[in-house]
Amino acid sequence: MFWPQDIIYLTVLLIISALALFLFTAVAGRLWCGYACPQTVYTEIFMWIERVIEGDRNARMRLDKEGFSSKKLALKGVKHGVWLALALWTGITFVGYFTPIRELVTSAPGAWESFWALFYGFATYGNAGWMREQVCKYMCPYARFQSAMFDKDTLVITYDRARGEPRGKGEGKGDCIDCSICVQVCPTGIDIRNGLQYECIGCAACIDGCDQVMEKIGRPKKLIRYSTTHAMESKPTRLFRPRVLVYSAILALIATAATASLYLRVPLRVDVIRDRAAIAREVEGGLIENVYRLQIMNTTEQARAFDINVSGLPGILVWGENITGIPAAETRMVPVRVRADAATPSGSHPIEFTVRALGVEGVEVRENAVFIVR
Ligand code: SF4
Ligand code: SF4
Repeated sequence: MFWPQDIIYLTVLLIISALALFLFTAVAGRLWCGYACPQTVYTEIFMWIERVIEGDRNARMRLDKEGFSSKKLALKGVKHGVWLALALWTGITFVGYFTPIRELVTSAPGAWESFWALFYGFATYGNAGWMREQVCKYMCPYARFQSAMFDKDTLVITYDRARGEPRGKGEGKGDCIDCSICVQVCPTGIDIRNGLQYECIGCAACIDGCDQVMEKIGRPKKLIRYSTTHAMESKPTRLFRPRVLVYSAILALIATAATASLYLRVPLRVDVIRDRAAIAREVEGGLIENVYRLQIMNTTEQARAFDINVSGLPGILVWGENITGIPAAETRMVPVRVRADAATPSGSHPIEFTVRALGVEGVEVRENAVFIVR
């Protein structure tokens, strides 16, 4: 179980994700954009809904050109209704990361929960339903700088110029019949035959479109395909080049360190708070007593009993009950009275608390504190 104090693991996860993104981009271009980016994934889902309700591209264009009719109103209404329902559910599931989702859907959600659910729902509807690839072209900062990670060995969507040109139909022409299907299906409206452009999100729609054309005219597929600049120049493509090796090495190092740290993580946290109100005092038997509060967090999903001990001064001990039970995933503030020998000289003395889970091997935390004698 992770607590807000474990924010370091979230930070490490984000660093690993960023490095993995750099590595995959260097090796295989805009894989993230084409297959994993929520903007692409949601746009695909919204487009699929549109296709199911309004039909294929030609049917949709016909419908858009048609004048107002009850059929058009019904189709558009159903489409936007389904889009809105999906967008709202997305907003609710997002807020569900922070508020139990049962509360969100069964009881009246609070004002902030409602605001964020509607905000993310509206953003999903607007981005995936209306803006689509305009987000990639004009808003996404990543689209702008990822070409800096490309080199001549990066796998990108490429038009085979040597095979396709001169384009057109008839004798002496290449395989490209200049049907412009690849441009029509391109969501960002570019012509991949003009070479790699930053607008290309790597969705591969042009590959599928052109393959169908090649199949129809009886020519080999893959006139547009995943390839590298070096392969197109009939030079060998290198997978292991310096930037790939550097990204891989850093990634492996951080991932190993994070895994080791997670494996060795002790599911117990202890903070010692000295009770300032209760000053050091002499108690029966001439002993000196200091009072502390131990904040003990049981970060596991099982209730556990903890044994509290103290060391660092002659005869020092926890006075009274030194075993405390803490329910699963809870924090308790435990008052602890510590007594030391009357012969302890005045001043501040470093001591150490040891909190240990009973019956579980290796769950132990040591915390430093100060024992004061006046
Ligand atoms: S779809 Fe293929 S054949 Fe048609 S224009 Fe594009 S590259 Fe040429
Ligand atoms: S050029 Fe091809 S891969 Fe790139 S965005 Fe257009 S259709 Fe997608």
